[in-house]
Amino acid sequence: MSDLHSLPPLREVIAAHGLRAEKKLGQNFLLDQNLTDKIARSAGDLTGAHVIEIGPGPGGLTRSLLRAGAQKVWAVEYDVRAVAALQDLQTAAQGRLEIVQGDALETDLMALCAQPRVIVANLPYNIATPLLLGWLRQIRMQGAGAYQSMSLMFQKEVAQRITAQPGSKSYGRLSVMAGWLCDCRKVFDLPPSAFTPPPKVKSSIVHFKSRVLEGDAPAFEVVEALTAAAFGQRRKMIRSSLRDYMGAVEACGLDPALRAEDLSVADYIRLAQILT
Ligand code: SAM
Repeated sequence: MSDLHSLPPLREVIAAHGLRAEKKLGQNFLLDQNLTDKIARSAGDLTGAHVIEIGPGPGGLTRSLLRAGAQKVWAVEYDVRAVAALQDLQTAAQGRLEIVQGDALETDLMALCAQPRVIVANLPYNIATPLLLGWLRQIRMQGAGAYQSMSLMFQKEVAQRITAQPGSKSYGRLSVMAGWLCDCRKVFDLPPSAFTPPPKVKSSIVHFKSRVLEGDAPAFEVVEALTAAAFGQRRKMIRSSLRDYMGAVEACGLDPALRAEDLSVADYIRLAQILT
């Protein structure tokens, strides 16, 4: 029986299971162990952590997470071919890997395991933003313990939007939602050539550390609606884009001639607090 250090190369696993990459499932695999180890390290010390991985595919990152000392990994995968390809890894992991076949968008990850939960994933890019917003919503509803941290791969442009600061071109709804609930930092970029097959875009890993919110935190839906209104018309002054919220804008002492990108995360949260 193989152990975690004597598994066959991923290319052999892919060939043996006919795991031809499907574009519609966002399948761009990482086959270089040095890279997957680097991603696992970017999540911090995983010893004793309950790690949730979305889309393990042939299992390269999964191997790294297990070798990095995760107490156990719960891997949610939609593609039944990949689930079959992961069976040998599951045996080698000796009870430390649970494979959940299903759609991550429909799966309540918090129900999979107890705290401390950490999400680490090379996400399918077609559903990366809705997945992230769903997890941020859970962090707002259940507190920072919902997911202690997340280390996630996005296309570079989405990573830039998540970590953008006010005043920049990339600053928008995602920067506010993520910056409100987490400390976010880009860890490193990856070129298309790091993946098999290579995607058309560059990629970046973002690390999110959940924040403990102080005081009366506004409702997630209110912050979403406010940022959708403001950034939906980002070139307009807020007297126009936020005209339905002018009472709150005045109560916060914000200049109505400002534009969406001039308001800080704290400004949006103060506005939302008044509206909640
Ligand atoms: N983790 C692997 C790696 O790094 O080589 C594969 C990453 S690949 C970018 C994305 C993975 O997500 C694929 O294995 C794909 O089958 C899976 N996937 C796509 N849509 C999914 C969904 N809705 N729910 C769960 N997994 C999904």
